[in-house]
Amino acid sequence: MAVNKAQWLSLKNELDSKGVALIAVSKMQPVDNILRLYEWGQRDFGENYVQELMEKEALLPKDIRWHFIGHLQSNKVKYIAPFVHLIHGVDSKKILKEVNKQAQKTGRIINILLQMHIASEETKFGMDESELAEILAGVNAGAFTHVHIKGLMGMASFSEKESQVRQEFQKIKREFEKLKHEKSNVVTADTLSIGMTADYKIAIEEGATMVRIGSMLFGNRPRNATSLS
Ligand SMILES: *Cc1c(COP(=O)(O)O)cnc(C)c1O
Repeated sequence: MAVNKAQWLSLKNELDSKGVALIAVSKMQPVDNILRLYEWGQRDFGENYVQELMEKEALLPKDIRWHFIGHLQSNKVKYIAPFVHLIHGVDSKKILKEVNKQAQKTGRIINILLQMHIASEETKFGMDESELAEILAGVNAGAFTHVHIKGLMGMASFSEKESQVRQEFQKIKREFEKLKHEKSNVVTADTLSIGMTADYKIAIEEGATMVRIGSMLFGNRPRNATSLS
């Protein structure tokens, strides 16, 4: 079931008091559901699919900050480059290059997070430490002029074992702390995007500065999003 205004406000206030930003994950949700939260004051929304994000961006208020949190394909970067606020899932040098290129084309500097693979499941996207190091070497060599690396994003395993989830968050937190010491004008590591409905409390205890929450705010997602409105 979706939250009411008082419940949203109490979550928002709790997160604000801890310095944690709330991204409302609105994938598969019709625009009316997004507008409901918007009217209460929610401005940051997260989407997973490029086509869906483009359609919603066209229909909804322009002061929404759109976060792309899904797996991004390089041939689709150009569609979101003109307006996206933060791309969470940059998980390869190839994607980073394309984001940089499209940002340059639209005359923007695009904020991004590098996605780390922290879960035990093979199916989750993200880089390991050596891929991260390679990207940072490219950054230091001046390869990326139109992106700004704001931090890291990760998804923990779907596990009942709290200790495992906690360890995975601790792992990405360590990488985040290292990233803070990067001396580059392309890197300002102030954002650690970890935690979803099932594990956001653990994520906050382990140092999240941004949580991505969908089903807790909107209720269960419709299985088939046949119509947006
Ligand atoms: C869907 C999704 C979320 C939100 O998941 P909930 O369990 O609905 O809170 C967060 N992050 C990513 C990357 C997602 O794909």
